[in-house]
Parts: sequence; structure tokens; C-alpha cells
Amino acid sequence: MSSLPASLPASLTVDLGALARNYHFLGTLTGRPVNPVVKADAYGLGAVQVARRLMAEGARTFFVARALEGMVLREALGSEPTIYVLDGAHGDNIRAIRAANLRPVINQPAQLEAWHQSGGGACGLQIDTAMNRLGYRVENAPEPFEGLELVMTHLACADEPSNPLNRQQRDAFNAVSQKYPGATRSFANSGGCFLGPDFGFDVVRPGICLYGGGPEGKPDARIAPVATLHAQVMQVRPVPVGETVGYSQGYRADTEITVATCGAGYADGIMRSNSPGGQVWIAGQLRPIIGRISMDVLAVDVTGLAVQAGDTVEIFGANRMVDDAATAAGTISYEMLTSITPRVPRLYVG
Ligand SMILES: *Cc1c(COP(=O)(O)O)cnc(C)c1O
Repeated sequence: MSSLPASLPASLTVDLGALARNYHFLGTLTGRPVNPVVKADAYGLGAVQVARRLMAEGARTFFVARALEGMVLREALGSEPTIYVLDGAHGDNIRAIRAANLRPVINQPAQLEAWHQSGGGACGLQIDTAMNRLGYRVENAPEPFEGLELVMTHLACADEPSNPLNRQQRDAFNAVSQKYPGATRSFANSGGCFLGPDFGFDVVRPGICLYGGGPEGKPDARIAPVATLHAQVMQVRPVPVGETVGYSQGYRADTEITVATCGAGYADGIMRSNSPGGQVWIAGQLRPIIGRISMDVLAVDVTGLAVQAGDTVEIFGANRMVDDAATAAGTISYEMLTSITPRVPRLYVG
């Protein structure tokens, strides 16, 4: 188990080497250029550090969700990479988009008009082929226009490879994208990268698999874990039979147990839904989180283990895959990663 500086109750270690391996794996798997999605601070791992490393590995086009995210990246990465903003050109963010030389992904007629009125220029276009979320409906797809560099859509069920909707979306996108012969076609998110060559189009657009999540919401041996959330054991105590642990007497000891109080709570992003049901890796085993998760600490049953204050537990990482940790908490890897709060220091290795 890796050691943790004594002053850090909780920390998120990001293995940039593993990130690079996942990036190259996805490129090899699809045979397409990988355009990383680094929205939401690269799923909580740190967009600047992640994008810098991916640029060093060859990435030249990135996707963010918000103009503000794009501005931060532009500042850090310099003028070279292309940065698309998924939520497009709306209101004041057009000024930010222009100032930072970002490209909006145009999602609706009002955005196209606003973009043109502000001077137009290089941008993307999203066509909605199933999500009913953002983008033009296929039947309303606009005529080709000046500045259009990229046309994209987004899969609704890429984590279910046998869902027929995937093929329907592929066919719909294939047909509608013929309208824009000069534009780069972008279709596949992480799950889409695994659906086969006719789902690759021109460039792929993965997020979660770069960051260590599996394409189907469960661990995939081809994807390396990237993020490890450690918490430090702050205190170890016996709990006598009949006593309770934590708020609201959330756990009652039927036999005498030993509890390790660990320095990570919901203010660090360990949602209360992690207990009961959650487990952490400690001293070479998975052990249950017990009782209510507090703001700053959580309790682990370490009965029978040689554990002491200063030891570390792994909440997710190579021994407790983030998909499994998320499933136990009733959520998905994406939410688990993006929930880790700024209070948790990010440590970069690899
Ligand atoms: C978040 C997002 C992605 C990346 O999805 P993953 O499932 O994380 O690979 C790709 N495209 C769009 C439009 C997105 O919103």
C-alpha cells in the first residue's frame, strides 16, 4: 500500500502514466484520433494536468462542457490545441469563447444566429439522434455554413453494447452527416469506442475510459485504474457489544468489533450513500464502511486486522475499482469521480 504524507487525511492520487496508457489503448482499439473529453476538471482529476499529459502523448483536440473550463485550459495549454465547448454559444459566454479562441458546439438555431452575429468562425455542430437533450433534431439539421469544422452526436446507451439504439444512432448520424462533407465527424464516447469500427467515424471522444472507468459501468481489464482515493486512519478503537457507531446510531455492534475512523467524509465527496454497502481496501482486504458517513470521517470495521492510526485505506483505486465502489454506493464512476471535492489534494504520479 502506498504511503500517505502524515498531514493528508484524504488525497486523490492521479497516475498520469496510466492515463497515457488508456489514451493509447483507445487510439489503437478504434484506429482513430482520440479527442479527450476533459470537462468537469477532467472528471475531477485535474483538467490542466490531464490535458498537458495528453498533449504530450499526441492529443490536439479537447472537449469541455463550459466556456470557463475552456478558458482555463487555453491559458494553461497555449494556442496550439483545438478546444470545443459542448454547451455551445449562448449569451455572454460568446465573448469568453472568442477571447480564448475556443470553438462552440452549436446546439440550436438561436446559437447559430448568435454565433454568426458575433462574427462567426470555426465551430462544431451537434445533431441529436436519441438523447433529446442538446442538439438539432435530424429533420431540422441546418444547411452547411461557413466555419463548420466538426459535426457530432452523442450515444444514449453506449454502455449497453447490444442495445439496438446504438445502431439506429449510428445509421442516423451516418445519413445526416453526409450533409456536411467538409466537417470532421465525431460520434463515439468511451462506450462507443468498443462498439466496432463502423462506430468510429473520423475521431472518437472518450472521457471515462481515459480516467479508469470501464465502458459498461464495471471494471474492464483493458482499462488501467488512474485515480486512487486514499484516506488515513485517524483512530482505531474497540466498540463493545451493544454500543453504536456514528450519528443516529447508524450501526450497532452485535459482537465486539474494532473500528478504524478514516479521514474522508461527505465534504470530501464520499457520499452518504456509500454506507451501508460500501467497502474499502485496507491491509490487503476489503472491509465494510459502517454507520453514517460524517462530513469529515467515515468508520470501517477492521476487526481482526493489524491496523493502526496513520495507516491508509483505499476508497477506490487499483484494489477497489472505481466502478465497483460506485455500484456499491448506488451510483456510477462518473459521479464518484466528479464528486471528489476541492478539499482533497490531487497528487500526480507517473
Ligand atoms: C461527457 C461526454 C462525452 C464523454 O463521455 P464518456 O462516456 O465519459 O466517454 C462525450 N460526448 C459528450 C457530448 C459528452 O457530454
